[in-house]
Amino acid sequence: MDDTKCVFCKIIAGLIPATKIYEDERTIAFLDIAPFERGHVLVVPKAHARMLTDLPEEDLQAVIRVTQNVGERLLRQLPCDGFNVFQNNGACASQTVPHVHFHVVPRHEGKPLNWTPGSYASPDEAKTIQAKLRF
Ligand code: 5GP
Ligand code: ZN
Repeated sequence: MDDTKCVFCKIIAGLIPATKIYEDERTIAFLDIAPFERGHVLVVPKAHARMLTDLPEEDLQAVIRVTQNVGERLLRQLPCDGFNVFQNNGACASQTVPHVHFHVVPRHEGKPLNWTPGSYASPDEAKTIQAKLRF
């Protein structure tokens, strides 16, 4: 993991596109490019920090509040029956992007989650989900 090429810092800086759901001064939330499930969102602090343990208190509070709000949007607007929140720290724990992020993954009754990266059928499908979830 090379922090100087951090892809999430590039998204925050507007250097590469993302399907944004929410943004404020400390936090950004956007659709995961390779979703485990339709509506899989990443909630990311704007400050670059590699692990949860590196994140300043104010950014931690902001990012967990937005994670809660994203969960609410998923339940009401997607809709879904529940959701998983998870957060990986270190390559040994499956962290591939060296910038703290919370995964918020919608869940549906009777539908087991396939814990493998998927894709959207088209950019339009991702935009439709964005329109439902944006706040
Ligand atoms: P990790 O394994 O580090 O917890 O998760 C990183 C996540 O970032 C993966 O689910 C991956 O699909 C997602 N990701 C990596 N690069 C990009 C990107 O350029 N745009 C978006 N939207 N998601 C990305
Ligand atoms: Zn970064």
